[in-house]
Amino acid sequence: MEDVKALNFIEEIIENDLETGIHAHIITRFPPEPNGYLHIGHAKSICLNFGLGVKYQGKTNLRFDDTNPAKEDIEYVDSIREDVRWLGFEWSDERYASDYFDKIYDLTVELIKKGLAYVDHSTAEEIAHMKGTPTQAGVNSPYRKRSVRENVQLFDDMKNGKLPEGTCVVRAKIDMASPNMHMRDPVIYRIKFAHHHQTGDKWCIYPMYDYAHPISDAIEHITHSLCTLEFEVHRPLYDWTIENLDLYPSRQIEFARLNLTYTIMSKRKLMQLVQEKVVKGWDDPRLPTISGLRRRGYTPASLREFSQRIGIAKRDNMIDVSLLEFCIREDLNKTAQRLMAVLNPLKVILINYPAETEFVDLENNQEDEHAGKRKVPFSREIYIEHEDFMENPPKGYHRLTPNGMVRLKGAYIIRHENTVKDADGNITELHCTYIKESKSGNDQSGLKVKGVSHWVSCETAVRAECRIYDRLFTVESPEGDKDRHFLEFLNTESLHVLPHIYVEPHVKNLKIGQQIQFLRHGYFCIDPDTNSEQWVFNRTVTLKESFKK
Ligand code: ATP
Ligand code: MG
Repeated sequence: MEDVKALNFIEEIIENDLETGIHAHIITRFPPEPNGYLHIGHAKSICLNFGLGVKYQGKTNLRFDDTNPAKEDIEYVDSIREDVRWLGFEWSDERYASDYFDKIYDLTVELIKKGLAYVDHSTAEEIAHMKGTPTQAGVNSPYRKRSVRENVQLFDDMKNGKLPEGTCVVRAKIDMASPNMHMRDPVIYRIKFAHHHQTGDKWCIYPMYDYAHPISDAIEHITHSLCTLEFEVHRPLYDWTIENLDLYPSRQIEFARLNLTYTIMSKRKLMQLVQEKVVKGWDDPRLPTISGLRRRGYTPASLREFSQRIGIAKRDNMIDVSLLEFCIREDLNKTAQRLMAVLNPLKVILINYPAETEFVDLENNQEDEHAGKRKVPFSREIYIEHEDFMENPPKGYHRLTPNGMVRLKGAYIIRHENTVKDADGNITELHCTYIKESKSGNDQSGLKVKGVSHWVSCETAVRAECRIYDRLFTVESPEGDKDRHFLEFLNTESLHVLPHIYVEPHVKNLKIGQQIQFLRHGYFCIDPDTNSEQWVFNRTVTLKESFKK
């Protein structure tokens, strides 16, 4: 049977528009401001916008909302393009709000000529003061009655760099008594002598986001302009702009933004973590940025699945980060190469084992029948986990104990003979015997052992560094406390480095970035810090949910 899923409210609107012929096809857009790296919240918006484009055989544009040159940079443009593609989407057209600066300028002249915009020489403080409050109407600026002629001249002077930064702005002439503060003659243009990453020094005036956005949407014939809920109060200005400039009737629709527990999602705050070196960079695996999640080992499919599962709501809510972890576990369980790695090594010498190395067969992934097997070298000296030997084991402990036995995964049963300790009494080495007839797959020993330990042969082991990550914040909602700064909730133990782990040599066949399951330990990936001298692994997620509320 076909998987029939209920439509979300945006799909309902779209299907209705298509059925009633309001639109023959749809065009959506993803409109990031290139002032930082994308995060998982943007991934939700990307999956939504591009997903709709695909589902309804429409188009989706990637539009850089680059109206604020002071904060933007080409580095961010590049990272955004990379992240969208990595998530598995391709845009129809790549556009920049700055492509439309000429058009927006012309439209603004039109608006001024209609008597619907004016140049205001009030200071920012005066404008704020005249705005009034939500319960108190604002007052008209003394410049509101300027003649069209004077306004046209002044706007031209602004454009030509004749007026210094901060001397004046252009405001839409709407209603200073509107119950909606955004409609009280909003500023639509300001002077800024800033170099722009796309337009260079051509412009010294820049349109405000709220004004440039509906115009950009209309120019591209965006049918459904999807944005997050906080823009609901901006919608009247969006509609006002389109109506008064006689533009294509793009429609703004708001949906709930994604909030995730134990992290932050504001670009400004993420920037602060990067700039203050709280984390190593935008792609630090502890960050909720797309590049951070990628480096952590998340797959595009897991993020798309996550976006699917959280759905589209009209009310803001908080999603438990364990859902994200569930999605990557599900995906990697099906696809990840299995390997043995010893994170806390204890050397074991098999005193009756010959000097030669033999190879044992181990499954690459028992969840995938096509994954096959690999040959793993086994020899006289191996590492096991320190935790897999206990001198005074508690009840129910099934691994190695003095004179006890354990099976080595895919290989033999071994028996403990002797424990070697240093001067301080720390265990440094075990001497064991192996039982030759007990080889996995052909066990003729008749012995019954309960415990299985993974292992790595010393001679061929790949020594590596392993980075274990914990949540970056200690509370569910680090941004949610009005009295305390989010940095106060920083988890100072969010990175734990294991400098010497041992991994079986098959890892050498794998690529940087590739995901792996280390048996019993969780999912990991090969970090790009890996070079010819040093291997580095990141733990993506544990095998089972380890945080319980
Ligand atoms: P920030 O406030 O962190 O700077 P932003 O909303 O200003 O983020 P933009 O680059 O303007 O970032 O966002 C591009 C698109 O992604 C917008 O349509 C925005 O609504 C959407 N978006 C941003 N954050 C989220 C989120 N947490 N959940 C869903 N969509 C989001
Ligand atoms: Mg924004």
